[in-house]
Amino acid sequence: MSPLDSVPRHYLAQALDDGPWHCPACDVENSGPIAAGCASCGSGTVPARKAAPAAAPPTPSPTPPVPLSTPASRAIEQAYQEGYKAGYAAGIRAQAEPAPAPPASEGPDKVARTLIVALQLFTEQVLVSNPEEVITGEWMSTAEVENLIAQLQRGRA
Ligand SMILES: [Zn+2]
Repeated sequence: MSPLDSVPRHYLAQALDDGPWHCPACDVENSGPIAAGCASCGSGTVPARKAAPAAAPPTPSPTPPVPLSTPASRAIEQAYQEGYKAGYAAGIRAQAEPAPAPPASEGPDKVARTLIVALQLFTEQVLVSNPEEVITGEWMSTAEVENLIAQLQRGRA
C-alpha cells in the first residue's frame, strides 16, 4: 500500500474561477465566478464582450503601390547602366594610353641647376682667391668653371 493512497486524487479546493479575483480593468475584488464578469464594471460579461468594438477593416491605401519597373525607373536604370559602361571603357582607354610625359621645364634640369648654383658659389667663395689647387692645375680655373657653367645653362654639359 502506497502512502499516496490516502491522498484524494481529485481537487478538493474551491474552483479557481470561483474564488476571490481582482478585475484587471477596474482592480475591484470580486467573489463570484469569473465567467459572470466583474460586479463593478461588467468586464468579462457576454454583453461587454459583444459591446467591444470590432477591429476596423484596413483602409485602402490612398495611392496604389508603385510597380517596381515604371518607364521612369527603366530610363534611370538604363542611364545608370550606360554611364557605368562609359566609365568602364574610359578607364580601360586611360590604362592603355601611355602616361603623359611631365611638362618639359625651360632650361637645364634639376641636376644641372644645382650644379650651376654650386659652381657659382664655389667660384665666388673659393676660386676667386686663386688657391694652390688652381695654380697646380688640380682644379679648374675661374674661367674654365665659368665656361662649364655656361655649358650647363645651355643644357649641353
Ligand atoms: Zn471590473
